[in-house]
Amino acid sequence: MTDILNTTHSKEVFSSALELMPGGVSSPVRAFKSVGGQPIVFDRVKGPYAWDVDGNRYIDYIGSWGPAICGHAHPEVITALQEAIEKGTSFGAPCILENKLAEMVIDAVPSVEMVRFVNSGTEACMAVLRLMRAFTGRDKVIKFDGCYHGHADMFLVKAGSGVATLGLPDSPGVPRTTTANTLTAPYNDLEAVKKLFSENPDAISGVILEPIVGNAGFITPEPGFLEGLRELTTENGSLLVFDEVMTGFRISYGGVQEKFGVTPDLTTLGKVIGGGLPVGAYGGRKEIMSMVAPSGPVYQAGTLSGNPLAMTAGIKTLELLKQEGTYEKLESTTSRLIEGIIQSAENNGIAINGGSVSAMFGFFLCEGPVRNFEEAKTNNSELFGKLHMEMLKRGIYLAPSPFEAGFTSLAHSDEEIDRTLEAFDQSFSVIKN
Ligand SMILES: *Cc1c(COP(=O)(O)O)cnc(C)c1O
Repeated sequence: MTDILNTTHSKEVFSSALELMPGGVSSPVRAFKSVGGQPIVFDRVKGPYAWDVDGNRYIDYIGSWGPAICGHAHPEVITALQEAIEKGTSFGAPCILENKLAEMVIDAVPSVEMVRFVNSGTEACMAVLRLMRAFTGRDKVIKFDGCYHGHADMFLVKAGSGVATLGLPDSPGVPRTTTANTLTAPYNDLEAVKKLFSENPDAISGVILEPIVGNAGFITPEPGFLEGLRELTTENGSLLVFDEVMTGFRISYGGVQEKFGVTPDLTTLGKVIGGGLPVGAYGGRKEIMSMVAPSGPVYQAGTLSGNPLAMTAGIKTLELLKQEGTYEKLESTTSRLIEGIIQSAENNGIAINGGSVSAMFGFFLCEGPVRNFEEAKTNNSELFGKLHMEMLKRGIYLAPSPFEAGFTSLAHSDEEIDRTLEAFDQSFSVIKN
C-alpha cells in the first residue's frame, strides 16, 4: 500500500481543465472543493475499481454517483451496448427497447403504471413538478431542507450537498418569483409539513422528497414519516412524489416505496436505470401520466430521450439486478462495511454515527442521531477532509463531500471491504491527532 501516490499527470490535466471549463469540471462536486486537495482524473473503471491517469488504482465508493450498482463496465452491459451500437446510436423514433425498459420499470416500481423517459434526473424532477401543478391546478410545492431534486430553478432552495458544499444557500440567477412557490420543511418533521398545509390551503400541488436522503449525507426517514406524508397529501388533495433518482433499484428492486410499503402518486428515477448512460424517468398513476403530451396537454419532450443505447444499458442492468440474491448480497456487503467504519472510528475515539440500507451508506463525524440537514451540519467537516485525503492516499475513493451518501456494488467483494476497512483503521489513527 503506497502512502504517497504519484498524481503528477492528474494535476497537469486538471490545471489545463481549469482554463477550459468552470472549476475544471462538468459537475461541481467533482472538484473536491469541500475536502481540499486536487481532484483525481480518471482514465478507466472496471468492477469496484477506478484507475487514474497516473496508473493508480482505487476502490470506488461512488460508482459514477449511483449508476454502477453492478460494478463498473459490467461485461454483459458492455456486450449488449456493443451489439446495440451497430444499429445506430439514436433513432428519434419509437424503438422497441423503450417498451422493454418501460415494462421492467412498471413491473418493478409499485407507483408506476406509466412512464416517460428523459435524459437526466434533473429533467425528470423538472417535468414531474410541471405535471404536479397541471394535475392539481395548484402552484406551490413542499420540499425538504437538504434534499436535492436536480438543478431546475424551483428546486434550488436548500438543495443539499452540491449547493451546501459550495456554501451557497441559493443560486444567483434563480428569480425570487420562481422559488416563491417552493416551501421548505426540515426532513423528518411532519408537524412542519402540517403547518405549511394549513397556512396554504388549496395551494399546494404536492410534496416531493428523497424517501431516503443521499444528498445531505445519508439520512433515513423515521418510522411513520413516509406514512404521515402519504396521509397528509391525500387529506389535502395534493400529490406525494418520491424522488427515487438515487434510491430506485438500489434500496430494493422496487425502490424505497417497495421496501417501506408506502406508495407515492408519482416517482422520479435516474442513475441506476441508465446503467451508466444518461437516463431519467418519471412515472406514476395512469390518470396523472395521461396528462403528459402528446396524450395530454402537459408539454415535455427530448431529442435523445429513450435512445437505444441508454435503453440497452438500463435493460441489461435491471436484468442483472433482478437475479436471485442480489439485494441480500448488497445489504450484507454494505452493512459489513459501515459497521467496520463505525467500529474503527470508535476505536480511535472519533465521534461518528452512520448506517446503511441495501447498497447505500453514510456516516457523519459527529454525535448522532442525524435526522435532518441541520443536524447533518454538525458533522466535523475539517476532519472529514483529512479523512478523505488519507483514504485517497491509500487507494480508497470516497465521495469528496461529507454531505454525500456512499455506494457499493455487486462487484465489491469481501476482499475490497477488508482492504477498505484496513485503510479506515490507518486513516482514523492518523487524523485523530
Ligand atoms: C442525482 C439526483 C438528481 C439529479 O439527477 P441528474 O441525473 O444528476 O440530473 C435528482 N434527484 C436525486 C435524488 C438525485 O440523487
